[in-house]
Amino acid sequence: MKLFQTVGRRKIPGYKSMSLERELVVLDPKKVEYVYFPLVAANNVPLEVFVKEGDKVKVGTKIALKQQFSVPLFSSVSGTVRAIEKRLDVTTGRPCDHLVIKNDFKMTKEKPLKKVELDASKEDIVAAIKEAGIVGLGGANFPTWVKYNNVKDIHTILINAVECEPYLTTDYVSCSLNAAKVISGARYLQKAAGASKVIVAIKVKKEQACNCLKEAAAPYPDIEVREVPDRYPMGWERTLIQTIFKKQYDKLPSEIGVIVNNSTTAIAVHDALVEGSPIVSRIVTVSGNAVKNAANIVVPVGILAETVLNEFEVEEKEVVLLVGGPMTSNPAKDVSFALTACHGALTLLEKVVYRPVACLRCGSCTAHCPAGLQPIEILRAFEGRDYERLEKLETLRCVDCGLCSYVCPSKIEVTDMMKKAKTLLRVHQSRKK
Ligand code: SF4
Ligand code: SF4
Repeated sequence: MKLFQTVGRRKIPGYKSMSLERELVVLDPKKVEYVYFPLVAANNVPLEVFVKEGDKVKVGTKIALKQQFSVPLFSSVSGTVRAIEKRLDVTTGRPCDHLVIKNDFKMTKEKPLKKVELDASKEDIVAAIKEAGIVGLGGANFPTWVKYNNVKDIHTILINAVECEPYLTTDYVSCSLNAAKVISGARYLQKAAGASKVIVAIKVKKEQACNCLKEAAAPYPDIEVREVPDRYPMGWERTLIQTIFKKQYDKLPSEIGVIVNNSTTAIAVHDALVEGSPIVSRIVTVSGNAVKNAANIVVPVGILAETVLNEFEVEEKEVVLLVGGPMTSNPAKDVSFALTACHGALTLLEKVVYRPVACLRCGSCTAHCPAGLQPIEILRAFEGRDYERLEKLETLRCVDCGLCSYVCPSKIEVTDMMKKAKTLLRVHQSRKK
């Protein structure tokens, strides 16, 4: 295996300044008549629902529980439960049941979650993170408490504020505005893992956020703010760990004594454990070359993409909407889907139709793959349904970073083909089992 041969080779345009030209926008809650919560989690496991039609809820009322890993969801508005209705779930691309809550526009708050002091036991901190339903807000959506449950031999908590995809600036804005919360949340995570050190990683040239973080971390000698190169995909966990620790791991960073959390997740830990507030709103970047007034906007969880986009001027052209950044996201079919806590960006790009030509065998996709894969060989094995070769070529190590499509001179959608190859191999492997 030749992981990381190519790390740092590619600098791609960031277009970050577009959404930073305007101040953070806070959406008027009166514009949000309903919020929607998908009731199906990963692997199609239905959620346990605690409310029924007609029930009154407040901001922060526990409304449902993802049974796998026990992750609660909280209402983001006060009002009345109206119904359960089918609607597009943008994560799976399929319709699923959604809990619908009608906003009464009073924003009445539920009593706060149980607050936890920093000198509480590791177990109490992990339990509080679990009770607050905190998940990876960098897009992973993985329950944070699971990473910390009964861990041993962790030396460093790595807070990832790199945000390497073009256009996205939510982490930059939240670190600039809430640096003290990032550091506070990181200290709780450090305590939960029994780690001796925290490193907050941020890309060079993000001066404002970097300075704010350094100032907030200054009183704590065991917290370091580390600037990392402006390369794609520096925010990918493996790339970041290789850059900082010069180490690789097999499945999880904890194998080398590190736990990684996104900076916005650290803020959510602070909000829950110090202020008693679960995740009921988040900052979303709305940007792209088809948006005239790009910005970051604070919205309640469960808001429809359509309602968010109504706040922006979009070019009168054929446009593609991506839920996330342009390198790793797929186009949405329409704008009727609800945003969950892990959706941090809506990117609108002018539609460009590429006409792919035959592969030139130039090797560019292989040369740029940060996972050290050979995409073109994988595609040949995929076309030939050669499962043994797909396994040998370590197809499942692909992280959908999008670089192979980006660099391909033949305009072949290599990343899409990689996704299909992974699906094919997974189905084959599960049938074999
Ligand atoms: S998307 Fe392409 S470049 Fe990125 S990890 Fe997968 S194969 Fe490699
Ligand atoms: S980058 Fe494109 S043209 Fe070059 S080898 Fe890969 S798939 Fe073929």
